[in-house]
Parts: sequence; structure tokens; C-alpha cells
Amino acid sequence: MAKLSKENRIKVCELLSEEYPEAKCALDYDSEYHLLVAVMLSAQTTDVSVNKVTPRLFSLAPDAYAMCALSQEEIEEVIRQIGLYRNKAKNILAMSRVLCAEYDGKVPGNYEELVALPGVGRKTANVVLAEAFGQQRIAVDTHVFRLANRIGLTQEKDVLKTEEALMKALPKESWVIMHHALIFHGRNCCTARNPACSRCCIEEYCKKNGL
Ligand code: SF4
Repeated sequence: MAKLSKENRIKVCELLSEEYPEAKCALDYDSEYHLLVAVMLSAQTTDVSVNKVTPRLFSLAPDAYAMCALSQEEIEEVIRQIGLYRNKAKNILAMSRVLCAEYDGKVPGNYEELVALPGVGRKTANVVLAEAFGQQRIAVDTHVFRLANRIGLTQEKDVLKTEEALMKALPKESWVIMHHALIFHGRNCCTARNPACSRCCIEEYCKKNGL
């Protein structure tokens, strides 16, 4: 696995940010609480399918207190089109109960408290901190993991190490932008099975590790 020089990592950042100026969180939400619920629902499913079920869920549960008034079965009924819906309903209810019991129904704005909530992992916490609290974070999903190592921004074999290595490899002010740009590039050009290198904006620099 080859790694890019610092100079070329910066160049890749510039080119990808220019390529995807519209790159942003694709989940629909109108509050910190609804963002947290949407990100929890998005595990192992697409943002598009999450956006199909959240309008009804959010109207039934405008806040954590209203969510706690629903039964797990009622939540399951609303989200049953998406994968792992039983487990997700259970976690959303448990997470909402902790918010009501310990945080006045509000979402905490720091990493340690977020990952201590039921069903909230590193990726979810990082997305919430970046989107709702304006912090520079890199959440590593399947696209970010594949592209970071394929391009040569990092040389790691697991998600956690990739997250740590990306934070060292990229300027902090670019973390949120690069998180979104890598996801957009992974969906639109550098797909898992069929990367379109001939029309890729960073082909000149990419190490194409594993291809
Ligand atoms: S050159 Fe190919 S492998 Fe590298 S980022 Fe572009 S599409 Fe992906």
C-alpha cells in the first residue's frame, strides 16, 4: 500500500472540495435530536431510505420526550422499511430515555457523552458533532474507509485506525469537507467494484491501492 506525500494530500483535498462544492449531510433533519435519530437509523442502509421514514417518525416524535411516549412496537411500525429496524427502534427508545433522564431531553455536545448513549458509536457521534455542533470531525463510513486507503491518504486496515490516521494526514479545517467529499466521490466515481479512474479528478495523484 503506497501513501501520498503531504503536498499531494493537500492537492487531493483541494481537488475533491472543488469537485463537490455541494457535498453535505444527505439526511433530512430539523433539530439536533432528529439528526441523532436519523444517523442512528442510517447504519447499514442508505440516507435515501432513512429520509423516507423520518418525516412520519419526526411528526410522531418531535422531541425525545415524545419518542419516550411511543412503544418500541410503534417505532418499529414506522421504520420497518429499513434494515435492522427492530434493533434500531430499541436503541432509539433507550437513547431517548437517557436523554430525558439525564440531559433534559437535549443531545449532549461532547464525544464521551454521545458514545455513552445506547446505540451511539464513533461514527454516529462524529457526524452529530460535525453537523449539529460545528466541530471538525471525520466520521469513517464504508466509502471514507475505502477511498482513504485506496487513494493513499492513509495506509490502514480498520476503521478506527483510518479515522486516527486521516486526522493526522489532513489539515483540521478540511475534516468535515473531506468527510463529505470522500462519500460523494465514493458514490459518484470511485465505487467499490467499478472505480471510474478515467474520469476521476484526482487520477494524477491517486495511488490506486488494491486495484
Ligand atoms: S483514480 Fe480511480 S481509484 Fe483513484 S480515486 Fe479516482 S476512481 Fe478511485
